[in-house]
Amino acid sequence: MRSLQLSESRDRFDLLEVTSYDVTLDLRDESTFASRTVIGVTSQGGETFLDLKPVSLESIVLDGASLPVDALDDGRYPLSLAPGAHELVVEATMGFRNDGEGLHRSLDPADGRTYVYQMSFMSAAPSVFACFDQPDLKAPYTLHVSAPEDWNVTANAAGREVEPGRWEFDRSEPLSTYFVSLVAGPYHRLHDEHDGIALGLLSRVSLAPALDADADELFTITKQCFDEFHRLFGIRYAFGKYDQAFVPEFNAGAMENPGCVTFRDPLLFSSRVPRSTRIQRATTVSHEMAHQWFGNLVTPRWWDDLWLNEAFAEYMGNRVAGEVTEFDDALVWAATDRRNWGLTADSRPSTHPVAGNGALDADAALQDFDGISYSKGHAVLTQLANQVGDDVFFGGVRDHFERHRFGNATMRDLFDSWERAGAGDLTAWTGAWLRTAGLDRIELDRATGSLRRTPPGGQPVDRTHVLGVATWTRVDLGTFRGHRLPGPHPPRAARRCAGDP
Ligand SMILES: [Zn+2]
Repeated sequence: MRSLQLSESRDRFDLLEVTSYDVTLDLRDESTFASRTVIGVTSQGGETFLDLKPVSLESIVLDGASLPVDALDDGRYPLSLAPGAHELVVEATMGFRNDGEGLHRSLDPADGRTYVYQMSFMSAAPSVFACFDQPDLKAPYTLHVSAPEDWNVTANAAGREVEPGRWEFDRSEPLSTYFVSLVAGPYHRLHDEHDGIALGLLSRVSLAPALDADADELFTITKQCFDEFHRLFGIRYAFGKYDQAFVPEFNAGAMENPGCVTFRDPLLFSSRVPRSTRIQRATTVSHEMAHQWFGNLVTPRWWDDLWLNEAFAEYMGNRVAGEVTEFDDALVWAATDRRNWGLTADSRPSTHPVAGNGALDADAALQDFDGISYSKGHAVLTQLANQVGDDVFFGGVRDHFERHRFGNATMRDLFDSWERAGAGDLTAWTGAWLRTAGLDRIELDRATGSLRRTPPGGQPVDRTHVLGVATWTRVDLGTFRGHRLPGPHPPRAARRCAGDP
């Protein structure tokens, strides 16, 4: 299937405003499911296309008039929309998938039960429902699901079983297509509540003992993180209830779907695990919560800012987990374990800048999506936060959330917010740390007792480092001093270390 081009997404954004999705799914068959989508859309007038990846397209009706189903070509249905408001009704038969994308269906070998979850990232939503699949065409969703009577169904918005096997969901807040989600099956479900937010934890039945054993830990982390995110951001969680589902055969760590987060279920432990594994789970819980604001409330306009989405969630997730949960060594774990992911990627010939991927199509955006996006992005945002201080950092973040609430924004928008909040001109800092690849090498010259910085090969770049340096001798346990290592190129010796041996 073709990958969406940036230019196509810009044209469609200029042409369309999607006002609503109403999606009806029937999950009672085994290999396929019926999908009916009613889309409200307002057009400026022009040619565009709908995204749809069905097993078969049964009907497509525009403003009451049937259109030919055989016009569907390689996942796109061409549309000519006159200026004004329109209603599209699309009925299709879709296939369950088993690759962790779209509507993934799996059989639990432990007990033969069947489970389903939806993963819409990055371009899988059209294999579940007809849509205009790009992050900046947000709309509210209303979902209706028919399912086997022994299943429960969870989605982004709150829902209820109105008769055996029939589930109705509230109209959601505006969502990007890539984080529309549902979780359906005979899931084991636990409930709690905190600060007016209904909380849920889900797992398959065979993992119920593991979920039950850790439910207190997971609910407590979630509550502590909500309190801290509310305090730091000054803006309430915007998506009503908050369910966290541990789902089978997930092909990533977790996905931040608003109100319906999915985690790979090996994160439920059926045997003793080292503390670092629990830290990783706690930071993942916190990371996905950070996305509820940065990513979900305000969403990258295009995929080339995916790094920022992840770097921000990584920074906030690690910081908040370390500061308010029992895992107060989360930042040590991040510095000694997680950071190596970024350092290793940044040391390879294939290294790339953190920002400025410049992806011209959706698939290309994933080519540079790695430990540099998450881990180096985290390190660089940590540096920025320390440099400007929390008042400016969160002042800018709040400004960003308020300006683009339920909308989309770019890296430039966020940096404008930080500069408005008092960060000063960040152009040089951005160029040095976000737009230049590679690692500086910092060495101690023992003969002179000075530190030396060597920039990454072939990339003259000014980067200032602030280091804590401990020194000692056999007779003197030494000193610990902070050092500022300025970054002009070519490298030069920095000031002498106090207390050098
Ligand atoms: Zn993330």
